[in-house]
Amino acid sequence: MAAADHTPPLKRPVSVLKGVGPAREKALTEEAGVASVEDLLYYFPRRYIDRTLSDTTLLQAGREVTLICHVQNHYLAHGKRSRLVVQCRTLSGEGLSLVWFRGVQYLRKLFEPDQTLVVSGRLEYYQGLQIIHPDFESIDPEDEQALVHVGRIIPLYPSGETLKKNHLDSRGFRRLIAAVVEDPEFVAPEILPPRAGARQNLLPRTNALRNIHYPENQAQLDEARRTLKYEELFLFSLMMYHKALARERYAREITPLEFGRCREYEALLGRLPFQMTEEQLRAIREILGLCRGKHSEAFLLQGDVGSGKTVVALAIALHYMETGAQVALLAPTEVLARQHYNTLSNMLGFEGATRLEILTGSDKKKSRAEKLERIQDGSALLVVGTHSLLEDEVAFQRLGLVIIDEQHRFGVGQRETMRQKGVNPDAIAMTATPIPRTLCLTEFADLRLVTLREKPAGRKPIQTMRLGEDRRAALYKSIRKRVSEGRQCYIVYPLIAESEKSDLRAATDAFTELSQTVFPDFRVALLHGRLKSAEKEIVMNEFRQGRVQILVTTSVIEVGVDVPNATVMVIEHAERFGISQLHQLRGRVGRGSEESFCVLVSDADSEDSEERLSAVAGSEDGFHLAEVDMRLRGPGELLGLRQHGLPGFKLADLVHDRELAEAAYRDVREFPDAPPEVREMIRRRFEQGIVIFPN
Ligand code: ADP
Ligand code: MG
Repeated sequence: MAAADHTPPLKRPVSVLKGVGPAREKALTEEAGVASVEDLLYYFPRRYIDRTLSDTTLLQAGREVTLICHVQNHYLAHGKRSRLVVQCRTLSGEGLSLVWFRGVQYLRKLFEPDQTLVVSGRLEYYQGLQIIHPDFESIDPEDEQALVHVGRIIPLYPSGETLKKNHLDSRGFRRLIAAVVEDPEFVAPEILPPRAGARQNLLPRTNALRNIHYPENQAQLDEARRTLKYEELFLFSLMMYHKALARERYAREITPLEFGRCREYEALLGRLPFQMTEEQLRAIREILGLCRGKHSEAFLLQGDVGSGKTVVALAIALHYMETGAQVALLAPTEVLARQHYNTLSNMLGFEGATRLEILTGSDKKKSRAEKLERIQDGSALLVVGTHSLLEDEVAFQRLGLVIIDEQHRFGVGQRETMRQKGVNPDAIAMTATPIPRTLCLTEFADLRLVTLREKPAGRKPIQTMRLGEDRRAALYKSIRKRVSEGRQCYIVYPLIAESEKSDLRAATDAFTELSQTVFPDFRVALLHGRLKSAEKEIVMNEFRQGRVQILVTTSVIEVGVDVPNATVMVIEHAERFGISQLHQLRGRVGRGSEESFCVLVSDADSEDSEERLSAVAGSEDGFHLAEVDMRLRGPGELLGLRQHGLPGFKLADLVHDRELAEAAYRDVREFPDAPPEVREMIRRRFEQGIVIFPN
């Protein structure tokens, strides 16, 4: 190591290590993302095998053992099955045969007399002690480092093709990392506040890093993992905390709005066919209260499917409109945008309805130009639309509030694009996929969380059941019964990506059969994303009006669609949907006062689909299901943050390690000051995660 090198030891490139030349350095950086010594220390084992040497005085059949032994000779035995027998002697002098039935031609070349082996496996007794298909490694007894591979719990490292070519297989990594963790030069400086470490009973960082690679026993490994998990969670919480502080410090100044008496809102309350719930009123008050300030605000309004978020958003929108500000409502699908448009025009009085506009991808050129004009000159006050609202040519005169429905369907960048269309407008993102409690670390993040905890009263629980193909006749019979009683029914086919031709075929074929053979006497219609939007609109309207009784459809109706008279939801090939999707689909029924049903049709029996289907059948609680979903799929997927990478935790898991996460979160508030090297670590580790919920 060069004397003039003032880089702290862990920050130095891996090339400072003995045995790492340019080729290895390149492979490490490119294939394993390991550029510095520190990266190497954070290259954690994939798993471990226990090679703690067994007590050789107790060699009995049936025991799992790890032994050192010397090869005496080996031979191929030809019987019913040819086998390779390697005869050895253990350190205590007992005979031991190693036996292989597979790969014998290759294996026989690996052994020679006097070789020293470490072998692991189950002892058996057959004309003496033997192990069949042992796990083995040959070691050089002269080599001190050889013991890196035996006599303890051995780490197994992930590797790749180029790494392997450079002799960095699991074994190669073991040697490399063992050299670092044993070298006093490479002491890992503490990065956690000492008091937090003491409170949580954590190991010193150097020890934790050594023990996660080379634990002497399981307890040591657990302790090391706990310390390093806490470290991740602490850094993550710290990042979120600083983001929140930054938000407050640099929040964009705006002229505070004066929300006075809002006549349209009062009129709305009188016009609604129901009473707003306490929860809804509270959410409206809370959001409006905060929006009077000098800084723009952003909220995440979360409430389970059917909790009545739309009317909350509308109530708030009316207050903005009263001050002359424009409001944009962004929906992920055209079906949903149209529904919002219809609902809003029904809820609004005449005056309000004339200032409502809808913009989607299917507007013809001329009408689009007229609409753009009305948006730009401010005569359209409330603008509902799909992604087409995001386009450059859509300009507002005075955009005060952006509402984003089903926010997980939009990317972070899209939200930001929408907000750029005004001078620091406030924003409300709505979601029915609740953020599980652990992630309510978002108290830190840049969205303020407002939750509708209860659904409107009087809703009956939805009866969810699972059926196999063999019960199809019974299923059709009960659909027939409900529809004859005046109810409506959805039958949903999986068509997750609109491009799946064969899926579309399945839905279309099913439609033909259902309408012609099974329910020829009912009005059955087909709705999928590939229909022209005018056709979609007609079908949706017919269904809403009750003229279509059975709607055969795809996940286009997954989000938002609201037809209270529909009480039966049949989901075909239910195993192909995720938990949150199934819950959303089920949320299309149970919206009125009639008893509702959700039928999950599936013959699949994989463990994974079993877990998902039974979770959905067993609970109607969106919060609970979100946690299950998050456990099965990981939080990034759930929050639609796949591309944005919810920070790459290597060890911690926000669901399983919830208590530790909460502890870290509390500690951060107490010790919020981060020295530069800690900030640097955060930057490197969570670089992409920084955009969790940006404004
Ligand atoms: P979501 O939160 O899933 O978007 P919606 O806003 O679509 O739910 O509301 C679901 C249904 O509940 C709608 O038909 C709506 O009119 C109705 N609704 C909303 N608030 C109430 C309430 N306080 N009492 C009764 N029904 C309500
Ligand atoms: Mg909704």
